[in-house]
Amino acid sequence: MKLIFLGAPGAGKGTQAQILSEALCIPRLSTGDILRKEIADSTNLGLKIQKIMDSGDLVSDDIMIQLVEKRVSQSDTKNGFIIDGFPRTLPQAEALQPILEGLTHIDGETYVINLSVRESELIKRFTGRFSCANCGALYHKEYKKPEVQGVCDKCSATDFIIRNDDNDESVKLRLKIYAEKTAPLIDYYNSKGMLISVMGEQEIHEITVDIMSAIKFHGDRVVM
Ligand SMILES: [Zn+2]
Repeated sequence: MKLIFLGAPGAGKGTQAQILSEALCIPRLSTGDILRKEIADSTNLGLKIQKIMDSGDLVSDDIMIQLVEKRVSQSDTKNGFIIDGFPRTLPQAEALQPILEGLTHIDGETYVINLSVRESELIKRFTGRFSCANCGALYHKEYKKPEVQGVCDKCSATDFIIRNDDNDESVKLRLKIYAEKTAPLIDYYNSKGMLISVMGEQEIHEITVDIMSAIKFHGDRVVM
């Protein structure tokens, strides 16, 4: 089973990727981890990446694709994997496609899960977040309030902070970039018959159940 998660920032990709990774016993691959590992291993490519990042530039698609290809060929992916946060653009998706198609030794299809959440809801999710100033525990003014108002559940501190980049303007900018760069991937994967769209505005476990039954449905159809 090879899964790729699509969805706007705040749609819940990371949460579902984590749950499914544990449920299906397949690793969750994030590009951040892959980059950090390469740098830590001090490979030739790792040193190059370090330089690029030190200079404040973005790692090119070429390098990212090379790294993803290397990562999905490691032995822990023999039963599959979940990629969360990649590809983010159409050129990345097009470069990834032949790699995915070449992984014939891994059982099962490749599915792209799109978590669909309305923009108004995404903005609400971001702008309501706050965290404990002492221990960093995360809260939300609507979805995850402290049990006692104004007191951290974990450490009983009473000071909280709101992240600077969670204001309306920066959230809208992030959603705009997503709509321009990443949303076209929905059509791309749909045309390849790989897309599974799931309503992201439900309870976390309901979303998981929807994803699992969609995977099973598609799997059965393939077998038939
Ligand atoms: Zn705390």
